[in-house]
Amino acid sequence: MRFDIATLFPDMCEAVLGESIIGRARKAGLIELYCHQIRDYTLDKHNRVDDSPYGGGKGMVMQAEPIYRCWQAVCEGLEEKPYVIYMSPKGSVFTQKKAAELSRMKNIFVICGHYEGVDQRVIDKIVDEEISIGDYVLTGGELPAMVICDAAARMVPGVLAAEECFTEESHFSGLLEYPHYTRPEVWEGMEVPPVLLTGHHKNIAAWRHEQAVRITAERRPDMLSDNEK
Ligand code: SAH
Repeated sequence: MRFDIATLFPDMCEAVLGESIIGRARKAGLIELYCHQIRDYTLDKHNRVDDSPYGGGKGMVMQAEPIYRCWQAVCEGLEEKPYVIYMSPKGSVFTQKKAAELSRMKNIFVICGHYEGVDQRVIDKIVDEEISIGDYVLTGGELPAMVICDAAARMVPGVLAAEECFTEESHFSGLLEYPHYTRPEVWEGMEVPPVLLTGHHKNIAAWRHEQAVRITAERRPDMLSDNEK
């Protein structure tokens, strides 16, 4: 699986996606991830990437051409056209289901907007899908791009130690996850639930399931009714 992120702040994405589990997966060749500086694709000698909006109004709009040329350059190096995502608060809200869908794709090209956003024409021309990470507005698409790349990458086979690492987790199974405990057995006078110390796998699984249902009912009853649909 390969991600190409088009951004005005490649170092920001690289710093986050070069570390920890995703960083290791890249080094191990399980996923490929490249951050592209949109500014490198300007034709303008001042490397200008934005301009004021037609029709007036505050703020600046990212121009279509540098983003388009960045996409063209990436496409040249690929056998298949990438699936193009524009991070946008107007997109459909990102979910675990969408992350799983993306994790099965071969090439994904992610456009990070900044300022007021990007010229609609480049969206109309190359974007397959607009994705939002939630109903709030951020200053740029970099954090959202990192969010979707992280969520998709960790479901690529081999990135986590075992598939159960994500199939048993919150949102994947339709339930929020049960609570975790680790050593010591007593901490600040609080004990680990005794069933977890028994080594009885069936009872432990039943307890965990019960806890998952309880937590989901308490915190996200909407998820339980979604399952019934
Ligand atoms: N004027 C736009 C917001 C621009 S925010 C509007 O009202 O819809 C600047 C950039 O940040 C956007 O182009 C987008 O790429 C990114 N962004 C901001 N909030 C986001 C969110 N919730 N999800 C995904 N991307 C977001």
